Amino acid sequence: MDAKRTLSDLEDAVLSLISEDEIVAFHRGLVQIPSVNPPGDCVDNIAFVQKPLEEAGFSIDYIFDDPTQPNIAASYGPTGGKKLLVNAHVDVVPIGERSAWKHEPFGAEVEDGKIYGRGAGDDKASVTAQVIASLALQRSGIPLKGQLIYTCVSDEENGGVHGASLVAEKYPDPDWAIVGEQTLNRVAVGEKGGAGVQFVVHGKTAHGALPWEGANAIEGAAEIIVALRREYWPKLKDRVHWAFKPSSASVNMISGGVKANVVPDRATLLIDRRIVPGEKPDDVRNEMFEIAKQAIQNVPGCTVEMEIGFPGKEANANAVTDPLVVAMLGANEKLGLNTEPTGFSMGTDGRFWNAKGVPTIIYGPGDPSLAHIPDEWVGIDEMVDAARAYAVAMVRLLGDYEGNNN
Ligand SMILES: [Zn+2]
Repeated sequence: MDAKRTLSDLEDAVLSLISEDEIVAFHRGLVQIPSVNPPGDCVDNIAFVQKPLEEAGFSIDYIFDDPTQPNIAASYGPTGGKKLLVNAHVDVVPIGERSAWKHEPFGAEVEDGKIYGRGAGDDKASVTAQVIASLALQRSGIPLKGQLIYTCVSDEENGGVHGASLVAEKYPDPDWAIVGEQTLNRVAVGEKGGAGVQFVVHGKTAHGALPWEGANAIEGAAEIIVALRREYWPKLKDRVHWAFKPSSASVNMISGGVKANVVPDRATLLIDRRIVPGEKPDDVRNEMFEIAKQAIQNVPGCTVEMEIGFPGKEANANAVTDPLVVAMLGANEKLGLNTEPTGFSMGTDGRFWNAKGVPTIIYGPGDPSLAHIPDEWVGIDEMVDAARAYAVAMVRLLGDYEGNNN
């Protein structure tokens, strides 16, 4: 029987197949195909991603419920062992004001080692790095014990109902999931949770000239906002977890009123509430509701009710000793990249797998503060580093080498 190859032998075999030229060509091609969401038509993007994987011999599963927002799962490696799912999205947010861009939004212009364009970072850099890493793993032909399931989805920017949600229903039980979003190639052990809420204030309508005969719902909403700001927001900065920015809340939408001369009988507030490990969605919603109920008493005749649009989600944070985290941190260490774990303060498609109990981390090239803004860009070197790091993590988790007990 042949002796098993060593880990570094396998890693080197895969890394030698990752080329910067291929990364740049693939990324530019992807950015040059618009996939703005809404409407979110990603047919051509998904076809672009599918082609090289299919040609390489990956088994392709085309998954959709809306034909304009397809998704693929491309599998490679033996079944029956562990499964590593890797994911990123091809849809992008609108460009906003064209005049705010110095670069062509879908030109993928290269300048000073950067590639510019909508989606250059979010999330086509992660897509590119993951595809190139997957291809390198396959081309190397190194022995594997487990299976890679590379998934590329639509609809992330609009909630993922037609995207990752569907894919997670079909592939619910990988042993590990790596979601590509902009972490500057740091290992994010998890993501914050969410507990958004809508407060609906009910009042009593009256002629605008006779306000004492009504109950002004907008004034009631104002009382709630002020009370939350004074009594609740200050508490949140003390709710911390090492991986994340503090717990947070923000009143992000307000509506109410029908006419300048009518006392409004209804107003609504939408509060974006992001939570850290240890906080429970129902608990934090009730905390805010208690304050709202108190505050509304300042406007006699008004009442407030709480409406919940989505069930909410707790934060998740894998232990740094989790094999998935260890593999990704080990990849960064081998490549001389950042080895300090962090957390992701925004939401990702990873929540669909995390909700099924799958250990899920977030890792990808690009700076999250450049996402969704004009002249979005990503560094070519960052994408090369990410492709290499994904590839090393794939080898560590799935490779058949001396000492791999996965
Ligand atoms: Zn994204």
